[in-house]
Amino acid sequence: MQFSFNLPVNLLFGFGTINEIGGRAAAYGKKALLVTGRGSARKSGLLDRVLALLGAAGLETAVYDQVEPNPTVPQVGGGVKALKEFGADLVIALGGGSIMDAAKCIAFMAKNDGDLMDYVFARKSSTEAFPIILVPTTCGTGSEGNGFGVVTDPATGDKKSLRGNMIIARLSIIDPELMTTMPKGVLADVGFDTLCHCMEAYLSAAATPVSNLYALEGISLVQQSLVSLYRGQGGLAEWEKLSWASTLGGMAIGLAGVTAPHGLEHPVSGLRNVTHGKGLAALTPPITGRSAAAAPAKYAEISRRLGGRDERDCAGVLRKLLADIDLAIGLGSQGVREEDVDWMAENALKVSAAGVANHPVKFSLEEIKEIYRTAM
Ligand SMILES: [Zn+2]
Repeated sequence: MQFSFNLPVNLLFGFGTINEIGGRAAAYGKKALLVTGRGSARKSGLLDRVLALLGAAGLETAVYDQVEPNPTVPQVGGGVKALKEFGADLVIALGGGSIMDAAKCIAFMAKNDGDLMDYVFARKSSTEAFPIILVPTTCGTGSEGNGFGVVTDPATGDKKSLRGNMIIARLSIIDPELMTTMPKGVLADVGFDTLCHCMEAYLSAAATPVSNLYALEGISLVQQSLVSLYRGQGGLAEWEKLSWASTLGGMAIGLAGVTAPHGLEHPVSGLRNVTHGKGLAALTPPITGRSAAAAPAKYAEISRRLGGRDERDCAGVLRKLLADIDLAIGLGSQGVREEDVDWMAENALKVSAAGVANHPVKFSLEEIKEIYRTAM
């Protein structure tokens, strides 16, 4: 057995921990660029609350809110410009996965010259970035626990992660209270994304003893919380479980990488701006059906943790869970077309080579096309 474990993020977890953001942030900078969306954090009053907490601790802040779902290179560029104009020395993200990913890329590009996609495709490298604090308001991406910042180049449709320890947050504040206002549809999308992170890290050829601990615990926590929260039956304990599962999933993929579902989903959302969790919902059951026999012990473990029997019913167990959260959907209903299949399959092998290679089955180009057609 051989593995390396280095995850330099300080996680502050629990109800009410958001109230500590002022004093904690003051340790990392004096002027913060606060990256957030134009929606819920503003409407719910959370943004004002966080700005007040930062102000009370003596920090100056500027808000950048031009980030959208599936953040793009130009949106990152706008943030870099805002950071430089304001003279910020710290980047704080308040929002979901797109916000956190964009904030990481902004903190990185504000210290580095050139084209972000050159760093994403490892044609250039740097270890420099401004310090980052992440405050997730959805429990899905797990970006608070890893060094991935996913970005899309609208010129090519390529959706891929910037990666490295330089964009691991110095501090992530995971306050389950902030998740409780998510609309049901968002909860389903991000909850299933969490489950996929945990399953894929566990199935990955790059899995380690540490990532397996995180991933298996995360799968069980999703099983104990997601459907009941979706039905409005869960309480604080369930919010805590799903929030922690999300961070565990993020850490697990940070260590072990993802496999075919994420590998095949990125071309879908890169091309057609599909919601990440919905793309995963369409792709994961057919991929699981084609893969379970190749790693029976692992798929059996996943199935049992989700209430199933063995590897043979794993895809069915996932379909049942998706039906329970009204996410039993196909790619066709998300705007993907039959004629997109060839491009998506070729793009998956280009942008997601590592994820496809980590999967228990090494799918050929033709098999990947077949999976996309089945998922329509
Ligand atoms: Zn994901």
